[in-house]
Amino acid sequence: MNDYTYPGQAHLADSSIGADCRECLFYVPRPFVQIKRNCCSKAKQMAGKWLKPIPPHATACKYFNRRT
Ligand code: SF4
Repeated sequence: MNDYTYPGQAHLADSSIGADCRECLFYVPRPFVQIKRNCCSKAKQMAGKWLKPIPPHATACKYFNRRT
């Protein structure tokens, strides 16, 4: 893990992508259930459970999918 990856991310943060998690389709910015707020739904899919929230400004990972 590099020093700018947060534990709740689906993969290592990669600054070459040039985006933040808040721009990603998999980022859950608003709570449906409070625990999901600011969590990554891609990481949840892979881990089988919700991981820790990550800040909106976190550097995106290779699973980044731009929200339209
Ligand atoms: S870029 Fe998307 S898939 Fe990757 S950690 Fe951030 S929210 Fe999750």
